[in-house]
Amino acid sequence: MKIRFLGTGSAKTSLRRFHSSFLISITNHNLLMDCGDGVSSAILQQNISFASIDSIIISHLHADHYSGLASLITQMKLNQRTKRLSIFIHKSLKDFIEDYLLHSYLFLDRLGFELDIIPIEAEEEIRINESFTFISKLNSHLGKYLPKYKTDKLSFASLSFLFKEQNHSVFYSGDIGSTDDLKLFDGKIDWLITETSHIKLSELAAFLEKNNFNKVILTHIDDETEKLLEPSFKSLQKDKKQSIITASDGLILQHNS
Ligand SMILES: [Zn+2]
Repeated sequence: MKIRFLGTGSAKTSLRRFHSSFLISITNHNLLMDCGDGVSSAILQQNISFASIDSIIISHLHADHYSGLASLITQMKLNQRTKRLSIFIHKSLKDFIEDYLLHSYLFLDRLGFELDIIPIEAEEEIRINESFTFISKLNSHLGKYLPKYKTDKLSFASLSFLFKEQNHSVFYSGDIGSTDDLKLFDGKIDWLITETSHIKLSELAAFLEKNNFNKVILTHIDDETEKLLEPSFKSLQKDKKQSIITASDGLILQHNS
């Protein structure tokens, strides 16, 4: 499994980092995690071909995670893509994404490739190939809008993910509500990729004190938060500190299963 970070910034647009997105590459498949504003530029910046992306997962509908989707599909069309594209999204958001693409005049019969919007259920195991699966769970990120903005039309689904390739597992927090969401998955987790914008860094440090990971990758980083990261973890034991990586756009992590 190879993970390449395309964007490691927060919801605040920055000249230092693109919005949060990464590409997971496994045998014969490239899976894009999130596609916020500017993702097409981030992909070009990393010399990645639009055609190489086989599927996209959308974690939730804040603009820094999905609003680049119509533009990305437009790039695929303009680059004469022919191979099928799958978009995985929580089942409660499927109709909206279909409407959003329709209202962006991305008519399925004019794309030149097959576009499959696949609704996912929380806790459902999705198999991408023989050795790679992922599971999502609902987290509390959008709970702050409830109950004030609750309507029948609006979904507040926000997902965290566990990716598994053979015996290697990666927990991606997505955007979360608190460090409690970092406990959504139990069992052996090798790499933790966690956002740093919606949690207290002191609480993250306390969580890392109690839990062991081979690598902890910090992402979704505000320009202002960046300088606070290292000092927040300085009281951790040396080996824990050494396992923490502050992600930057272009960072590649490789694990040979
Ligand atoms: Zn975000």
